[in-house]
Amino acid sequence: MAKKFVVDLDMRLSKNFTLREMIRSSIAQRLGIDNTPTSFKVIEALTLLCQNVLQPIRDHFKKPVHVNSGYRGPKLNNATPGSSRRSQHRKGEAGDIEIYGVSNLKLAQWIDNNIFFDQLILEYHTAGRPNSGWVHVSIKLSGLREQVLSKLSGEKRYRKGLVTQ
Ligand SMILES: [Zn+2]
Repeated sequence: MAKKFVVDLDMRLSKNFTLREMIRSSIAQRLGIDNTPTSFKVIEALTLLCQNVLQPIRDHFKKPVHVNSGYRGPKLNNATPGSSRRSQHRKGEAGDIEIYGVSNLKLAQWIDNNIFFDQLILEYHTAGRPNSGWVHVSIKLSGLREQVLSKLSGEKRYRKGLVTQ
């Protein structure tokens, strides 16, 4: 019998976040990709992200934080347009998030001012359209870069700081 890594998808990584929602992916569902982590290292990284980034955001805004994309295993990452092999999503260090009713710019600004992070990216946000785009945020155990960037549509390079189109 082959040995198997056991994962409880309903385990809570912090008060309001389960492992299941950190690995959920519409692309994986559509393509039939199993995105369940196969190492505890990934679960540890996701736990750090939930405890130190997502939960404090949830507690401050008192609204559900929607994780559009958290962990991406190798298969899912390859199937995700625009995701690089160096993406922190691959390690469970990053989440793409939104809060309905809170502008992504406001969300990114609050994170910038209140949370320890490695990288914060305001992605494809248009001024005056609160829910346009999303916020990418990452954390790791050490060597935090506290890097703040923005991605605008039609531009290849990231801009420094929080910039809207
Ligand atoms: Zn991302």
